[in-house]
Amino acid sequence: MTTSLRYATRMASIKASDIRELLKVTEQPEMISFAGGLPAPELFPLQRIEKIAARVIREQGMQALQYSTTEGYTPLREKIARRMNGKFGVSMTAANILITGGSQQGLDLTGKLFLDEGDVVLCESPTYLGAIQAFTTYRPKFVEVQTDEFGMDPDHLRKLLQTVPKIKLIYVVPDFQNPTGRCWSLERREQLVRLADEFGVAVVEDHPYGDLRFESDPVPTVLSLDREGRVIHLGTFSKTFCPGYRIGWVAGEQEVITKYVLLKQATDLQTSTVVQRELDLYLNEYDLDKDIEGIVDVYRKRRDVMIETLREEMPEEVRFSKPAGGLFAWVQLPDHLNARDLLERSLKQMVAFVPGGSCFPNGGHENTMRLNFSNMDEARIREGVRRLGQVIREALAV
Ligand code: PMP
Repeated sequence: MTTSLRYATRMASIKASDIRELLKVTEQPEMISFAGGLPAPELFPLQRIEKIAARVIREQGMQALQYSTTEGYTPLREKIARRMNGKFGVSMTAANILITGGSQQGLDLTGKLFLDEGDVVLCESPTYLGAIQAFTTYRPKFVEVQTDEFGMDPDHLRKLLQTVPKIKLIYVVPDFQNPTGRCWSLERREQLVRLADEFGVAVVEDHPYGDLRFESDPVPTVLSLDREGRVIHLGTFSKTFCPGYRIGWVAGEQEVITKYVLLKQATDLQTSTVVQRELDLYLNEYDLDKDIEGIVDVYRKRRDVMIETLREEMPEEVRFSKPAGGLFAWVQLPDHLNARDLLERSLKQMVAFVPGGSCFPNGGHENTMRLNFSNMDEARIREGVRRLGQVIREALAV
């Protein structure tokens, strides 16, 4: 009987998400799902990957199927460093990079490295649900920093840094955030780095969506503004290549990376050798930035269709953002509507979304919704938003 097992105290804070249960039905093929954060699988370069995978086994099979170093496959780390140097104007080498099992593992290792029970994580309000889950294992307190369309409010951030004890981390997703789609202004990024320096706190910049920009020029990463080695940057190939590869990375000062390596070694020894070598060969043979242009074109159109249909179908009182990149749009309903209740109704109409309340670590904001636009084709986006509009109008009528 499992009831007699003596689980760790930390399990008390880990609960199954009620939404996850509700969303199990989204696997039905006729469901129009705006719920997940899934890339469009029709854009995965299947034929190329088939060739690459066969070549890795044929040409380097013995090494590819062997154990390798915890840090990761050196040529891949070098390529990642070069990509970051080119895109962000930083000066990284392989020594600044640890390959992880997706950036989700980077979040878990970050919790392991920084958080004792009762320590404080400052985060945006709302923030990435998976980061709340990853950090929760280490039993911190989340303190939400007031956030507007430009990023964290620097005055509120300063006040919290001055008054809240035991702050260990400031966790941010500055480019096309999950869940809001917001992109921070340069000024807010600079203010964040200045405050982190002043108060000696680490900043974790989670950056899965920076390459998925639909318009205007990129804003410098928080990492590139860092002068004191306080910023830890999490990257991933999940949204620009394939999430099934589970390849991400942690980038930062060599001294910090060394600590991450120790923790990763204890966690899983290393990320899959064969998968790292496949990705490395893919990057040798093909132009990933060209692939990304193709992905961006498709997602931009899907974003446009979603926003256009929201404008047509949503009642006046409903507010929503037009994200300039990423995978998500954020919807705010009138205060008295509860998105969890609406989800039950909309699932009956075969439309799914994530109620935004779950992205606020301290609760509240139940009148918000996160809509993903990358995973459904344009016709299904149109139809799904139309049905959602109807569900909301009916809820407003009672
Ligand atoms: N951070 C953010 C903000 C995300 O949205 C995601 C993916 N949903 C992740 C990290 C994890 O991505 P992966 O582990 O696939 O790299």
